[in-house]
Amino acid sequence: MKTFKGGIHPPEEKELVKDNPIADFPLSTTFYVLVQQHLGAPAKPIVKAGDEVKKGQVLSEPLGFVSAPVHAPTSGKIKAISKMVHPVTGLLAPCIVIDADGKDEWTDGLPLERDPSVMTKEELMGAIKAAGIVGMGGATFPTHVKLSPPKEKTIDTFIVNGAECEPYLSSDYRLMLEQPERVLGGTLIAMKILGLDKAILAIEANKPDAIKLMQEKAPSQIQVEPLKVKYPQGAEKQLINALTGKEVPSGGLPMDVGAVVQNAGTCAAIYDACAHGIPLIERITSVTGRGIKHPKNIKVRVGTPIQDVLEFCGGLLDAAKIIFGGPMMGIAQFSDDISIMKGTSGVLVLTEKDTNISRYSGCISCGRCVEACPMCLIPSTLSKAGEKSMWELAVNNDLLDCVECGSCTYVCPANRPIVHFVKYLKALQRAANAKKKGA
Ligand code: SF4
Ligand code: SF4
Repeated sequence: MKTFKGGIHPPEEKELVKDNPIADFPLSTTFYVLVQQHLGAPAKPIVKAGDEVKKGQVLSEPLGFVSAPVHAPTSGKIKAISKMVHPVTGLLAPCIVIDADGKDEWTDGLPLERDPSVMTKEELMGAIKAAGIVGMGGATFPTHVKLSPPKEKTIDTFIVNGAECEPYLSSDYRLMLEQPERVLGGTLIAMKILGLDKAILAIEANKPDAIKLMQEKAPSQIQVEPLKVKYPQGAEKQLINALTGKEVPSGGLPMDVGAVVQNAGTCAAIYDACAHGIPLIERITSVTGRGIKHPKNIKVRVGTPIQDVLEFCGGLLDAAKIIFGGPMMGIAQFSDDISIMKGTSGVLVLTEKDTNISRYSGCISCGRCVEACPMCLIPSTLSKAGEKSMWELAVNNDLLDCVECGSCTYVCPANRPIVHFVKYLKALQRAANAKKKGA
């Protein structure tokens, strides 16, 4: 079965939630919609306190091409343009607070009924851009940008990422199992935009029922490819390598080897935007871990307070840590005063037993991190550079090629927080560059 070099085999832990069908999350009374839901330039609020809004109405407009609008998740009144903790950066960020009116009324004209197969590429792209779609696997890069490669790049491979290699999470699995038409419909739309007549839908072999169903449902242009179960099989560069044998060059992007990758959830959102004009205002999220009473897969609106989500799932049980995303690449939260975002693929609640809070010690040069690294880096060198804040040394040792997958940290017998060192070094490098530019 196809795979990449390196990687690890952490316990899958998917049985906690994988067999739970997607549950509709009831409407919250108040929504906290962060304006920055994507990578790239921020969006600018165009509503003010006191305004009445309808579901799907634009709340903030993108500032630039690499940006995305944000829409109202329900109808109601804008209570405030405030600030709240951003779950990804940990900093206070602009947030639009909506008091829901409980009517959940769509803005004028939505949802539409139209046939994407008769729409032009420009109309499809316009629908995707207007819907504020971003990478829903967690990367949150604006989708219309990924689907607009520069003219000099020849794209010959479109991959739908259904690997879901992060332990615990099952949101993409449930989506493929319960709503395969949305994923396949979005795949056909993306193929049309890219001018391709074939695509690969990649799924890890630990989801045999999703593989079988997709093989039955997919049209002949979409090849369903089972992949070996190994972390981080769903990382873009590893997925491309496993399926095509090509290596994205150092500092390069998938389009440099002719590939575009979109997550399965993103494809479903593409379908909704093109067939129904529906913006990205809700997503499927796995709420899981031994620290939550009743793990569930939920269909939840963007901006829903996390306290409501935890309560809906029965509340906490000896919870020690709340993570947005999975245990490998997710981000631990220091507060539960946060809300669901477009990229929240999971809310993982770990007990103390499931966390590793041991102190780290010196590197014993065992080489396990080197063996595990899917990017063929020397993580031990990066961690030593991190201890001494030597970002230039780290850059010379391919710091910027690190995909922050956490495989090195997972295998390190000295418990060295290598990914944290990497993130710290990248921040130092960005700060030094900004200083040089006088920013
Ligand atoms: S160095 Fe980066 S890419 Fe390599 S294993 Fe560690 S986190 Fe992953
Ligand atoms: S796994 Fe840890 S102890 Fe071993 S070489 Fe890497 S950083 Fe050093």
